[in-house]
Amino acid sequence: MPNESCADLLNRPAWLFIDGDWQTGQGEAIGSIDPGTGQELVRLAGARPQDVAPAAAAAARAFDGWRRQASTLRAGFLRGFAAGLRRRADALVALQMLNNGKPRFEAQIDLDDAAATFDYYAGLAEAFDARQDGAVEMPDGLSGRTRFEALGPMALIVPWNFPLVTTAWKLAPALAAGCTAVLKPSEVTTPAELVYADIAAEIGLPAGVLNILPGAGPVGAALCADPTFRKISFTGANATGRRVMAAAAERCTPVALELGGKSPIVILKDADVAQAVEIAAAGIFFNAGQMCSATSRLIVDAGIADAVIDGLRRHVADMVVAGPDDPDAVMGPLTTAAQRDKVLGYLLTARRDGLDCLAGGAAAAGPGFFVEPTIYLDVQTDHPVWREEIFGPVLAIRRAAGLDEALALANDSDFGLAATVVGGQDAQNVANRIDAGHVWINNAQIIPPGTAWGGFRQSGIGRELGPWGLAACCGVKHVTTAAAN
Ligand code: NAD
Repeated sequence: MPNESCADLLNRPAWLFIDGDWQTGQGEAIGSIDPGTGQELVRLAGARPQDVAPAAAAAARAFDGWRRQASTLRAGFLRGFAAGLRRRADALVALQMLNNGKPRFEAQIDLDDAAATFDYYAGLAEAFDARQDGAVEMPDGLSGRTRFEALGPMALIVPWNFPLVTTAWKLAPALAAGCTAVLKPSEVTTPAELVYADIAAEIGLPAGVLNILPGAGPVGAALCADPTFRKISFTGANATGRRVMAAAAERCTPVALELGGKSPIVILKDADVAQAVEIAAAGIFFNAGQMCSATSRLIVDAGIADAVIDGLRRHVADMVVAGPDDPDAVMGPLTTAAQRDKVLGYLLTARRDGLDCLAGGAAAAGPGFFVEPTIYLDVQTDHPVWREEIFGPVLAIRRAAGLDEALALANDSDFGLAATVVGGQDAQNVANRIDAGHVWINNAQIIPPGTAWGGFRQSGIGRELGPWGLAACCGVKHVTTAAAN
């Protein structure tokens, strides 16, 4: 029913989608909250760990038929997901505003990105079969060809910060390759994710190709322990990623891990100050800083540092921090009380340690989970505000005397997810020397589906998006043939 409203998406009788059927959960109750007010929106029983087995079995039964379909037919279903998301744009934008606290323009970007991802992988699926059996150079008397074979049923486990998008980045390439899936959404943002089941039913996706098991950590842990899955694709916190990897190691199940970050933004001495301020602000205050790729460490050439810092101070003073019902809001609340409390813990530590606070530094007014956009100056490199992922609107600044110091600071991190460079002459060179999976030069946080996404160092294992996202769902098979006698 494509004309569902946001209220329809919240008020469902059942949340589990297994083998093409909706089922009532019997597990732990999970709910969704409006972070702008702290009010509960909905609460329902989720899956139990023992619901994983039937969902996994459905994905396994569906696998052979799905992977044997012509890839052009799979592409048609992917286009159906893109269209289904766009048909529900109004309801999904409203739901993302209500359940995530996103300003309208951000919620719209999420919806557009998710739909674009399905369209992109539809394009790759259209070409998939035609790219099979590429010839390999072989010794005389032998011929060789390469095939890309879908891995099998996959477990997809996602967080709450960009629910539609992180799922699209996993589900679209999995389906394009011919894999089937059991998706576990974050317990914080279940209602938006269930739209993927609505669309699956609407477009006639074969039963079992997509199954959805809402629930909290124990359901994710049960997925990781189930031998049916040929790969576990996880996005979330490092601590959880380690558990996922340890569980997968029991059977040597491959994992893809998209984890945290503490990404640098390097502002070079020939940067345009106004542009640098805009990009720095977007890199830390979009989604209230709840981005794995937030550029939360700002390294600015000492020559223009004062101008950039003054520009940021004025930028923050003008920011409207409010709930999504305020049309002027440029930053909303944090999505959960727990995340708000975690961020406030860092602000408390900063105050205790006497960090130089340029802006913010406290909770913002309101019944919801608001935190002031916050900036600290000249933060020591061993301070948690400089080293740890805060996942909130908190920017730490250091000045650098020249390129080498800037690069040394940028690369002095356990993480390596993303980076931004603002400037002219040396920008490409600096981008090449930063250890990060994705670098933006003179722009911020733009991630079209044809790019590569994933981290160096402790930011993860593997790559999503682009052809790499599809390759991550395939095994490479080589066939060597000699003439029959
Ligand atoms: P989280 O790790 O708490 O939860 C992520 C998912 O894992 C949820 O669905 C959760 O229910 C599930 N889970 C919890 N315990 C589990 C277990 N033992 N086994 C399996 N699954 C389990 O993360 P979060 O708080 O939802 O998200 C924030 C984190 O995600 C941040 O660290 C952020 O950097 C990271 N993130 C990374 C990317 C990326 O692309 N690299 C993107 C978005 C978010």
